[in-house]
Amino acid sequence: MSSQAIVPPKRVGFIGLGKMGQPMVRQLARAGYLVLAHDLDPHAVERACETTGVEAPGSLKTIAHRCETVITMLPDGKAVRSVTLAADGLVAGFSSGKVLIDMSSSSPVGTRELGAELAARGVEMIDAPVSGGVRKAEDGTLAIMVGGESGTIEHCRTVLDAMGRQIFLTGPLGSGHAMKALNNYVSAAGLAAAVEAVLAAARFGLDPGKVVDVLNASTGMNNSTLNKFHRFILSRAFDSGFSLDLMVKDLKTALEVARSSGTPAPIAEACVEAWSEAQAALGHGLDHTAVVRYWEKMAGTELGKK
Ligand code: NAD
Repeated sequence: MSSQAIVPPKRVGFIGLGKMGQPMVRQLARAGYLVLAHDLDPHAVERACETTGVEAPGSLKTIAHRCETVITMLPDGKAVRSVTLAADGLVAGFSSGKVLIDMSSSSPVGTRELGAELAARGVEMIDAPVSGGVRKAEDGTLAIMVGGESGTIEHCRTVLDAMGRQIFLTGPLGSGHAMKALNNYVSAAGLAAAVEAVLAAARFGLDPGKVVDVLNASTGMNNSTLNKFHRFILSRAFDSGFSLDLMVKDLKTALEVARSSGTPAPIAEACVEAWSEAQAALGHGLDHTAVVRYWEKMAGTELGKK
């Protein structure tokens, strides 16, 4: 790895142009990087080319060959592994000293395995998952939690700065992914607790909107009561930009972190069970805020604006 920072207008590879990838690529281009991007979905690639002017060589090997660093922003660690290690994947173009930055919310156990396999080929890896959703991705103000060797992180720091405002160094490779999954567990538990409280209050005769306002002025307030209830749940918009499928994946990863470290986590166990049942009952492809429908069905009461 060269000790020089990766500064614009250097080339950066970017794999995964979904809800988060599109705005993140825009921030990189705005900062002056030349982005070489790829996605399985040709419409996503077309959109990024039209709106951001990224280059799309159509081959992972070419991207890895032409870029010093490649970012992955994919659904999970399995997708990152296949994009990286497949015969026609990034490894086909990586040479010693290149860096893979996995910004997806992947499983930390898989990340450490992938990091070891890349290290054997002289390729460095850091994990740098994000929090803040589509809105902060659009503003370039994501929180980024980064695991890996400090020299490698420093080398990539300018690239991360283009997409995030707060950058936390969490420790060795995989620690960012562990942190991200645990954050989303706390977020999901908070949302579920608030859904139960608002439903119980509504069935007791209180107005749901007022209940959320009181929580927000009181100690029961959390990110979901503040930023999700009025906007995405009571409005019935259910369009936060973060899917139920990804939240269930993150919850399972958080439980994996607890179990692999021998930590009792009965609330996380209950969360995984409830959110997985909701996913099974409601189906795939929904926004995570639509999880409220599962609790509403059980209660026989629908929340909404009065
Ligand atoms: P998304 O489903 O919108 O996008 C994923 C993209 O990856 C899609 O465009 C898909 O076509 C592409 N893809 C999947 N497999 C591929 C492969 N093998 N090769 C190439 N492209 C492939 O997901 P998202 O909401 O953008 O989330 C991406 C990651 O960021 C996830 O790990 C998620 O948990 C995490 N995350 C999401 C949010 C959010 O608010 N949406 C917030 C923080 C973190």
